[in-house]
Amino acid sequence: MTDISIEDFRAEAVAFLDANATPKVAPGAFVWGQGADEAALFEEIDREKEKVELAAAQAFRAKRYDAGLGYISGAPEHGGRGLSRDHERVYAEVEAGYEIPNQEFFGIGLGMVAPTIAAHASPEVAAEVLPKMYRTDIVGCQLFSEPGAGSDLASLQMKAERDGDEWIITGQKVWTSGAHYSDLGEVIARTDPDLPKHRGLTGFIVDMKAPGVEIRPLRQMTGGANFNEVFFTEVRVPDTHRLGEVNEGWRVALTTLMNERASIGGGGAAGGGFTRLKEMVKHFGLENDPLIRQELMSIYIGGQVNRMNSQRAMAKIKAGELPGAEMSGAKLALTENMRRTSAFVGRVLGPRLITDTGEWGTYSWSGYVLGMPAMAIAGGSDQVLRNILGERVLGLPKEPGIDTTSPFKDLHVGTVKS
Ligand SMILES: Cc1cc2nc3c(=O)[nH]c(=O)nc-3n(C[C@H](O)[C@H](O)[C@H](O)COP(=O)(O)OP(=O)(O)OC[C@H]3O[C@@H](n4cnc5c(N)ncnc54)[C@H](O)[C@@H]3O)c2cc1C
Repeated sequence: MTDISIEDFRAEAVAFLDANATPKVAPGAFVWGQGADEAALFEEIDREKEKVELAAAQAFRAKRYDAGLGYISGAPEHGGRGLSRDHERVYAEVEAGYEIPNQEFFGIGLGMVAPTIAAHASPEVAAEVLPKMYRTDIVGCQLFSEPGAGSDLASLQMKAERDGDEWIITGQKVWTSGAHYSDLGEVIARTDPDLPKHRGLTGFIVDMKAPGVEIRPLRQMTGGANFNEVFFTEVRVPDTHRLGEVNEGWRVALTTLMNERASIGGGGAAGGGFTRLKEMVKHFGLENDPLIRQELMSIYIGGQVNRMNSQRAMAKIKAGELPGAEMSGAKLALTENMRRTSAFVGRVLGPRLITDTGEWGTYSWSGYVLGMPAMAIAGGSDQVLRNILGERVLGLPKEPGIDTTSPFKDLHVGTVKS
């Protein structure tokens, strides 16, 4: 492991970014009507423009990796620099001060799939794949959800059958973000239908360009098509690309899902930042409206509480502990504040939200309001997160389900006893 002090490392990050990116205008310099008019939660760009943006993002990331800043806390045997999470955090802090190409393409691959590969792939495959992923020569996606398996992921039906040194995978996935520009996918498939549903699953990494993989875009109500249906017809995967042991795929999935909740729950405050909302209120002369002021402050407080909750979870990670239910709480709080923000901008902007008059800072919020419901579903729906908090934090009985033992089983609900 290379040893470098935090101060020297910060200087190294600054030198790299000075040479390869433009510093941002100082925060606080927000002026209503100036700068990018962006409030949408999801980028809605056409696929041609997306290719151009992806290439720019990959070029930046390749330079970052080649400079030793692409996989800062990764293990050296996986192509990482072997530094601490504090070094990682310092780089992120420094980078936040620069304009860099859109990095959203890599959120799932690097935030969720790569840590799962590091934890569960064979040493040879991890050493081969991870440097390419962190250099973004290959981009990853997550193929978990199916038409009949979302919240209840363990009931998934995609099947993988062993054929010598290979597996043959057939079935359908859905809502796969970024499948259309990904090179590698993390798949969970059923390898033994006779075992209970959480067992009998196995994880794999799959070449998204392999014969038998068909990707079809799904258009969402925001107008964009960020995710896809993915059909697998007898796709062959070498056994070496298995993640973890056969029938132990649930553990693999949990590694990915824990990283997903951490990355979403740790996300920022209200879209476009609180300053943008405050300036909107002033711009429309509503700063003395008591109800508007009250709502604005509840958004501010929600954002602060969420930030502190995320810090608490991050502190746990730093101390070597696994964050648990607080990640569910943090994600729930984030969507709650987004819901508040959606209602608030609707109240302040009124018809400007639904009609594009060309006025800066108004119609752009429609992308926020229409994107918000997806945030209450992705990475665990609100209801499912409440179940987790109820059961694991409050110690309430497990919710009744078709395949769980119902706590109400002795009540004979719906039956007439003579
Ligand atoms: C923006 C976005 C990106 C996504 N990207 C990906 C991706 O890249 N890869 C991937 O695999 N998946 C992805 N998904 C899919 C996501 O994981 C699922 O949508 C999610 O797990 C919910 O599953 P579902 O859509 O099948 O809804 P369902 O599970 O069918 O839920 C329907 C409704 O029932 C409620 N519900 C379900 N179970 C319970 C329960 N036990 N108690 C109370 N209420 C319940 C839910 O809260 C919801 O309101 C993405 C989703 C979104 C919105």
